[in-house]
Amino acid sequence: MRTVVYPGSFDPITNGHLDVVQRAAKMFDRVILAVARNEGKHPLFSLDERKRMALSAVSNLGNVVVETFEGLLVDYVVHHKACAVVRGLRAVSDFEFEFQLALMNRKLNENVETVFLMPKDSYSFLSSRLVKEVARLKGDVSPFVPTEVVEALRAKLKTAKDSTGPTEGL
Ligand code: ADP
Repeated sequence: MRTVVYPGSFDPITNGHLDVVQRAAKMFDRVILAVARNEGKHPLFSLDERKRMALSAVSNLGNVVVETFEGLLVDYVVHHKACAVVRGLRAVSDFEFEFQLALMNRKLNENVETVFLMPKDSYSFLSSRLVKEVARLKGDVSPFVPTEVVEALRAKLKTAKDSTGPTEGL
């Protein structure tokens, strides 16, 4: 039974994340999509909201489970007897940070490997941050996120005017 952990803020989950999770689900027996609390990033959605959106988005994938986590990723990976961490690589710009993260995790626990998966090229520009910005500016985000997320963004932005500071526009 080969389990992998796909960690992230998923604030909110996008079609790019889903592309990566689908690829991982084909390669491994079980994928734990681990929604990180990450309060330091001042997420727009609560941990519970992020988890619920992710759960609904992966409901068609039988070997993917969604959990929340906080604390050290390598400890979480060992605790769940996972063989690796999955991360998505969109472009060269992701590489430096992801490389540092992978090597730091290896320093913390040399048995924890990191596997990088690349999404379909049409998702390589997609990020949760840009999706939130487009939604704030009342643009159409339906090509980028699951339907539930479109609704959730609409509802959230109606109530919370802006939880991450003023936007400069696109
Ligand atoms: P974090 O806050 O840890 O960066 P994210 O939710 O932003 O969490 O991203 C989680 C992982 O998914 C990261 O490895 C990120 O590079 C990857 N990812 C994000 N968006 C995409 C995308 N459009 N295509 C492929 N991978 C992506």
